[in-house]
Amino acid sequence: MAAMGREQLAEYRSILQGSKPARHRVCRGVEVDAAFLEKREEEALWKAHERGMRRFREAWELNETPPAVSPSLLDLKLALAELMLESCRFCERRCGADRTRGERGFCGVGGESRFASQFLHMGEEPELVPSHTVFFSGCTFSCAYCQNWDIAMHPDSGSRADPRLLARVLEEGMQHGSRNANFVGGNPDPHLHTILATVRALGEAADHLPLVWNSNMFTSEEAMRLLEGVMDIWLADFRYGNDDCARRLSDVEGYTRVVTRNLLRAAESGEVMLRHLLLPGHRDCCTEPIMRWVSENLPGVYYNLMFQYRPEYRASLHPGMDRRLSPEERREALELARRYRLDFTS
Ligand code: SF4
Repeated sequence: MAAMGREQLAEYRSILQGSKPARHRVCRGVEVDAAFLEKREEEALWKAHERGMRRFREAWELNETPPAVSPSLLDLKLALAELMLESCRFCERRCGADRTRGERGFCGVGGESRFASQFLHMGEEPELVPSHTVFFSGCTFSCAYCQNWDIAMHPDSGSRADPRLLARVLEEGMQHGSRNANFVGGNPDPHLHTILATVRALGEAADHLPLVWNSNMFTSEEAMRLLEGVMDIWLADFRYGNDDCARRLSDVEGYTRVVTRNLLRAAESGEVMLRHLLLPGHRDCCTEPIMRWVSENLPGVYYNLMFQYRPEYRASLHPGMDRRLSPEERREALELARRYRLDFTS
């Protein structure tokens, strides 16, 4: 297929080669005032976060690795995530559920995270494998054709995610050749607090372990701010070119505004690997508008054109979604990708 956009992942390669620390390691070296953490006042914490992020960006640009401190910007991010859990705004559904008291929002995930599996995944993009992937339970979408519905639709399935244990498991994975830690589900958003606690529990051995946020990109603005300075790669789904298809097939409102906003933000704060799963019969409403937006707004981004749609879960209830892509649809998508000058792989 077409030439790959490998140069976009220059930072990722530098981290792997040891010439740059992972972002979470730099974040660990940015000191914050302990008094803010004790007060637990959200507005004050956000102000401290903004100051910390300014120092983070300076250190990152100068390729500095400040000594680890306590409390650090990473501690502050975790404190904010734990506060947000009391009125959940981890994703743009903004349910407001107090998950610390057992309330649940749309995703159905409680205060405690669970995960279905973790392993060195060999099926991700070639640049990522082996990718130590953690499959958290539950999802913020309800896709009619969900390919992972056994995990995504059952938020209470799997094992309890203990951040310290998970951190040790990720470190062990490095000894077996993992090139990154990859947080997915379902979707990782409902587990933001657990993922930040896991990252905080990582030891020095993980200073050059890049972190991957593998998401539907319906993340809230606040959660995006917390993830900036922690995640190195945004492995981002972009699936719908309009809000009607998103509403009908994934039960979500305002898809395009949120996802495009987050993609632009992700591109400023890390490296984006975009995944475009082609849907059967959605060339004019989804495939082409997505390609047009990407070519205009993120030219040259790493673009994975995915042909593997299969009619899982409740796909047969939606006319036209009960089949795989036709050879003609594949050919047309490739032609469109070339026409929009996307630097794609498939
Ligand atoms: S993660 Fe999203 S869907 Fe789940 S409770 Fe929080 S805001 Fe709602």
